[in-house]
Amino acid sequence: MGDLGGCPDLIGWLREYATHHINSRLIDDRRCIPPHIVLDFGNQGLLGMQVPRDYGGLGLGHGKTMQILQQLGAIDPTLSLFVGLNNILGIRPILNYGSPSLKAELLPILATGRELAAFALTEPGAGSNPQAIATRATSIADGWRLSGTKIWSGSAAWAGVINVFAQQDGGISGFAVRRGTAGLRQGAEALTMGMRGMVQNTVYLEDVPVGADHLLAKRARA
Ligand SMILES: Cc1cc2nc3c(=O)[nH]c(=O)nc-3n(C[C@H](O)[C@H](O)[C@H](O)COP(=O)(O)OP(=O)(O)OC[C@H]3O[C@@H](n4cnc5c(N)ncnc54)[C@H](O)[C@@H]3O)c2cc1C
Repeated sequence: MGDLGGCPDLIGWLREYATHHINSRLIDDRRCIPPHIVLDFGNQGLLGMQVPRDYGGLGLGHGKTMQILQQLGAIDPTLSLFVGLNNILGIRPILNYGSPSLKAELLPILATGRELAAFALTEPGAGSNPQAIATRATSIADGWRLSGTKIWSGSAAWAGVINVFAQQDGGISGFAVRRGTAGLRQGAEALTMGMRGMVQNTVYLEDVPVGADHLLAKRARA
């Protein structure tokens, strides 16, 4: 487990860090991950493990990333969800499907945890069946406008970018939406019985404009 192919020994670091700086009971009682953990994880590269080194990430492969998430899950499942979500649902769509300009804009800040990334697919009428999403992307001159409601979006209220999925001409497309974009509104938090330190938000999309360079992938037909 400790061999991370020349990378800093994050597993050793995590074990030592957890002994002194992670109090899972307080995370649960306070319903919040303390700021020092987010900052320290960001500085260690844990929030952008698979981002290439050129963009400031650790450039780890899937196996090593999973070893680290496994260790983190043994320490605290809420932190493993938080870190896994940022790396996998937040960063990977941008890494795999973002335009060169989008990657240059976002990856350096996501790799070091200066901003967080979230993923918004689920809706009140679409959970296990994501093809049923009702959020729409309507073409405009220089991109699209997104309209709809997302629920259960982990880290959404804390995120600098949310990967939003919407119906577009009979298929589903992904769009990277930055915090502060007109019409993007955070709704209520779902107060869960477990994983209480994470936030899951409702996200309202009220004619949110997204430019062509923020498209994450060509649409996938059902
Ligand atoms: C803690 C947490 C974090 C989450 N984070 C995110 C996130 O970051 N982004 C995001 O987009 N979503 C997120 N979700 C939402 C999650 O993806 C959905 O909850 C999941 O897709 C299930 O959808 P649902 O809750 O609407 O359940 P439903 O789809 O309503 O399913 C309810 C039950 O019915 C069963 N079921 C459904 N369809 C069938 C069928 N055809 N046959 C047999 N059984 C069926 C299911 O197995 C389940 O037991 C999160 C959810 C939780 C609880």
